Amino acid sequence: MRDKVRSLIASALYKDTDGLVADLAGAEPAAAAVEAAMFTATGTDVGGAYKSKYRQLSFNLKDAKNVALRSRVLRGDLTPAVLVGMSNEELANEETKAYRKEVAETMLREAQPGGNARATTDMFRCGKCKQRRTTYHQMQTRSADEPMTTFVCCLECGNRWKC
Ligand SMILES: [Zn+2]
Repeated sequence: MRDKVRSLIASALYKDTDGLVADLAGAEPAAAAVEAAMFTATGTDVGGAYKSKYRQLSFNLKDAKNVALRSRVLRGDLTPAVLVGMSNEELANEETKAYRKEVAETMLREAQPGGNARATTDMFRCGKCKQRRTTYHQMQTRSADEPMTTFVCCLECGNRWKC
């Protein structure tokens, strides 16, 4: 299990990092350090906490738009101990961070008493019909300290998605 996780983290780190490491082997020391920090942080046990931490890190490290995160880890700007303590928001690429911020601010502006009420907005663009007439609502789908999931519904074609 731990060997597999180390090699998966190495592959994630090696991907598209502006030549910081020459080959996959070059990413292995950093990957081993990240895995060790994960193992310590999740109670030196390869149980649920370890697996969910791995999924969170691997999702963000593999993100094609998150070269910055991979580079910081490989350069050692971001120590493994700090990395494993980061939230989804902190791990996200810059584009996602900016997008989430914009959504959060709009939500705040449009929020109605009751918190979870549906609202109509033009801030989302439907991937199917390309229109912007949508409604959305937010729900806490993961743990309480993580950002809420936004469910969007297109009023033109009925397409639904979440972000
Ligand atoms: Zn649509």
